[in-house]
Amino acid sequence: MDLKQYVTIVEDWPKPGIRFKDISTIMDNGPAYKFAVDEIVKYAREVGAEIIVGPEARGFIIGCPVAYALEIGFAPVRKPGKLPREVISADYGLEYGTDTLTMHKDALKPGQKVLIVDDLLATGGTVGATIDLINQLGGEVVGAAFLIELSYLNGRDQLKGYDIRTLIQY
Ligand code: IMP
Repeated sequence: MDLKQYVTIVEDWPKPGIRFKDISTIMDNGPAYKFAVDEIVKYAREVGAEIIVGPEARGFIIGCPVAYALEIGFAPVRKPGKLPREVISADYGLEYGTDTLTMHKDALKPGQKVLIVDDLLATGGTVGATIDLINQLGGEVVGAAFLIELSYLNGRDQLKGYDIRTLIQY
């Protein structure tokens, strides 16, 4: 299936000059959504994932059905102040300033094989901070899967040495 045809490009959103890749038109199409999830499920099996870790909010949309299909767990990565119990955090650089992501301190077991799942790889800041969190918890990152890769933003530079799978490239 050519998944790219189901992505909607939104010009100048959220700000002028940005061509936003809207994946809601993959999600609202049953066969396209199932195909995308199934491709990542296959990859998760290949790398032997024991748990899925996904950043809010679109990482949940793709990562949770993958975890469900494999009958493994899903651990959320969230912005500060959202998780109710003790958390660890990781900072990452934005174009202007920094941002922070958190995970529950007991979200992973030491040595657990983790597949990171998100909708889109852009600069790699989000996935870089997610790897930092997983490392802090003693998990082993066995791969990272994304629906979309914006290859011109060189997010792969943040992921040197890690196995990556992307379904759609721009
Ligand atoms: P990065 O941290 O620069 O790699 O940006 C990736 C994060 O930003 C992902 O969690 C995406 O959900 C979000 N993102 C950035 N650009 C887009 C876009 O065009 N469409 C959807 N999400 C985007």
